[in-house]
Amino acid sequence: MNYQRPKGTNDILPGESEKWQFVEETARLLFGDYQYHEIRTPMFEHYEVVARSVGDTTDIVSKEMYDFYDKGKRHVTLRPEGTAPIVRSYIENKLYGPEYVKPYKVYYSGPMFRYERPQKGRLRQFHQIGVEAFGSENPATDVETMIMAMEFFKQLGLHQIRLVINSLGDKETRQAYRQALIDYLTPFEAQLSDDSKRRLHENPLRVLDSKDKRDKEVVKGAPSILDYLSEAAQNHFSEVTKMLDALEVSYEIDSNMVRGLDYYTHTIFEIMSDAPKMGAQSTICAGGRYDQLVEELGGPQTPGFGFAMGIERVLMIMEAEEAVLPDFDHLDAYVVNLGQETNVEALKIVQAIRNAGFSADRDVMNRKAKAQFKSADRQKAELVLTIGKEELEAGTVRVKHMATRQEVEFLLADVYEDFATVYDKMVKE
Ligand code: ATP
Ligand code: MG
Repeated sequence: MNYQRPKGTNDILPGESEKWQFVEETARLLFGDYQYHEIRTPMFEHYEVVARSVGDTTDIVSKEMYDFYDKGKRHVTLRPEGTAPIVRSYIENKLYGPEYVKPYKVYYSGPMFRYERPQKGRLRQFHQIGVEAFGSENPATDVETMIMAMEFFKQLGLHQIRLVINSLGDKETRQAYRQALIDYLTPFEAQLSDDSKRRLHENPLRVLDSKDKRDKEVVKGAPSILDYLSEAAQNHFSEVTKMLDALEVSYEIDSNMVRGLDYYTHTIFEIMSDAPKMGAQSTICAGGRYDQLVEELGGPQTPGFGFAMGIERVLMIMEAEEAVLPDFDHLDAYVVNLGQETNVEALKIVQAIRNAGFSADRDVMNRKAKAQFKSADRQKAELVLTIGKEELEAGTVRVKHMATRQEVEFLLADVYEDFATVYDKMVKE
């Protein structure tokens, strides 16, 4: 039997996982500076939580859900995205609480599941890092959150990125625009894909999000939602653009952008990569405002703003842009031990070094000295300590500074009592 991982999933192996940690750590530090705190919700939710939030007519809910009935006959789904579960949690745990905790800001990082056709940058289990801010209607929240996302990519060493924004307005806007869109699309109905034909009546905005070629052609001439913004929506959007201008953040407006989830209102945005070879999978981060969602799921009226980014795509783009990663490999000391009789002493030495707060490793494969030095090199050891039969008998150890090739003999007692001094002598002098 040859077992293979399920289609559309990846094993993230050592060598690769360090990059993931770097991306996650960068997010943790930056989002922390913006006063976001981590939230961890379950990997699966009641189906209704996701269907209600994301919307029945979206691709995610209508085609991509990993949903099933559990042994108790409950309809559940692996989470396809982070916002719906967090809104559920926000309401269930009454995180709306007193006024002083507003806005309530959380970030998350973890796997999401969508039954998609796997291809480059499109998986069935993929990973997102995202944030949600609850309670602020202020366009400043939209702007600082978009800036934080852009800053995150800059910290990862990405430069060929673009901020694209649009507004989906409020209820009033959507009603007016819905009709205008139906009026525009109806004459083209016969040309539309089957999905879009259905959506034209159920949820015409979804047609704008279609990936079908013919649909895309038709959509090009569609009326712009920006011409249908209510006064309140217009005010919000112009505040957002004014603030972006004031902070000298460049952006584009794409009035056909709608996003694949129904819960958005007002500002929506995507961050696109122009790195070579990214093709159709060039959106690395997407999000926006969702002022009705908390109420929709049974909570008090609470505005929200958030975004999510796909870690796999971020890593692909880092590779495409040849972003410089920090040096992950480092070892303070490697203990070369020669012969069975030094086995115990080598163990005592690595443990003493570790207890002194340094990283240390040793040979456990009984290899020849040369092979052990090779390991030390591969592990980028700063110092190599060698102990053989002679040294053991004399109560000494040879310490080599790999960078300068300088070698000094120390008493074993020095290593045991105060390795920090040994290290300083070798590395700093
Ligand atoms: P797309 O238009 O590419 O299908 P989407 O609109 O479905 O994206 P969102 O639901 O907004 O994407 O998710 C935000 C981000 O998560 C995307 O920009 C992308 O980086 C990532 N993402 C979404 N789906 C996948 C997937 N199947 N595999 C890998 N990454 C994904
Ligand atoms: Mg999608």
